[in-house]
Amino acid sequence: MKLNDPTLLKTDSYINGAWHGGNTRFAVTNPATGDVIAEVADLGAAETTAAIDAAVPAQKAWAARTAKDRAMVMRKWYELIMANAEDLAVILTTEMGKPLAEAKGEIAYGASFIDWFAEEARRVCGDVMESPIPDKRFLTFKQPIGVFGAITPWNFPIAMITRKVAPGIAAGCACVLKPAEQTPLSALALAELAERAGIPAGVMNIVTGMDAPAIGNTLCADDRIRKMTFTGSTEVGRILMQQSAHTLKKMSLELGGNAPLIVFDDADLDVAIAGAMASKYRNAGQTCVCANRIFVQDGVYDEFARRLTEASAAMKVGNGMEEGVEQGPIIDSQGLDKIERHVADAVSKGAEVLTGGHRHELGGTYYQPTVLANMSSDMMMFGEETFGPVAGLFRFTSDDEAVAMANDTEFGLAAYIFTDSTSRLFRVSEALEYGMVSANTGIFSSEVGPFGGVKSSGLGREGSKYGIDEFMEIKFVCVGI
Ligand code: ADP
Repeated sequence: MKLNDPTLLKTDSYINGAWHGGNTRFAVTNPATGDVIAEVADLGAAETTAAIDAAVPAQKAWAARTAKDRAMVMRKWYELIMANAEDLAVILTTEMGKPLAEAKGEIAYGASFIDWFAEEARRVCGDVMESPIPDKRFLTFKQPIGVFGAITPWNFPIAMITRKVAPGIAAGCACVLKPAEQTPLSALALAELAERAGIPAGVMNIVTGMDAPAIGNTLCADDRIRKMTFTGSTEVGRILMQQSAHTLKKMSLELGGNAPLIVFDDADLDVAIAGAMASKYRNAGQTCVCANRIFVQDGVYDEFARRLTEASAAMKVGNGMEEGVEQGPIIDSQGLDKIERHVADAVSKGAEVLTGGHRHELGGTYYQPTVLANMSSDMMMFGEETFGPVAGLFRFTSDDEAVAMANDTEFGLAAYIFTDSTSRLFRVSEALEYGMVSANTGIFSSEVGPFGGVKSSGLGREGSKYGIDEFMEIKFVCVGI
């Protein structure tokens, strides 16, 4: 890995402002080549507890500083990330596989949360209410919740960390974070830059390790951790919520999706194709908001299918470090197996392969951009996210039918609609049981908009003016006068 600043490549955990190697290490591989790129510290429950021990006093000191002061340190962190964006993108692509251009986009997107919440830190306001009693005055204070635990996935190795850590430390909290075992290097590079920016020892602790259940349970069971924030599978989200029940923690859970993308007859097809391509193939289909079920109305179904197939077949697949590559490898063989299972299941139940449908000739974990037509609700792809570059097309006739199919899932994260009718846009947006609706665009995520789901897709919102509240408590103060 060629970096302008090789000291950004850290392989030890970062606890209480120091780097910890531990006794054993685990390998991080490049999914594009299968090569081992680093051996990272394999820590567990004991080190997680040590990180909590450090975070408790660090949080108190951090919270005692003014919001303006915290914001200035965060702003420095943001600037260092942007100044090192090139190196961070190389680290990200090498450990995760997404095309370098997408990795650069993620660095800017990830950094934007730090910039945003540095500003939001200064706008935290309590209230003074009109008192119902003549000799009493009513006020509220907003205070940091304390130390929080964070567990993040591999598909956005930078942004899923900053989306949690930035609002948390802006609020005056400290964290103990476990990054995904597939992508610890991006997390550790962020910690190095946080240290350079002046984020004090103990405020941001990164514990790397293979034993996620042990680290997770240590965080959930410890009553000094007052909040858990997690992005990952619904299954693990449920485990963390159960494990946190005993100590009654506040929870933010950003879990699985099963995004519908609905194309109506009156849609501008250029916009719909561009939106479907962006939503479907971003990160090789490995995001929780990627379109998973594409519903197309009768009148445009054939034309949409033809054009999506053409665009999908033209995509350049390869190592994300190569110029012009639009789709990298799948993260690992488990991810690839799931895609193959979903495609085989759909084909066995009558789906028609319009393009792709197989592993890519590049070998490894590469998979062909795939379009399947004639999909139906008895297929696995209808019920759970494929997390791969497979576009499944379902035909529909009426708006009600499309909405009913879109809502017929336990998940409720993102939904997409394409229509030129304003009234349809409002009616359908309101009827969709989803936390986010993206209309006439395939990419909607931003630090300014609230990100989160309903039903089995989770709890809480990240980013936006709401994101910082997840890390604060409201205290009511009643003053007798
Ligand atoms: P994905 O399918 O994206 O890998 P996971 O939910 O398995 O989704 O992983 C997301 C994060 O949760 C990773 O950091 C992973 O190590 C962690 N994780 C997995 N299992 C557990 C667990 N039992 N307890 C705590 N964290 C876990």
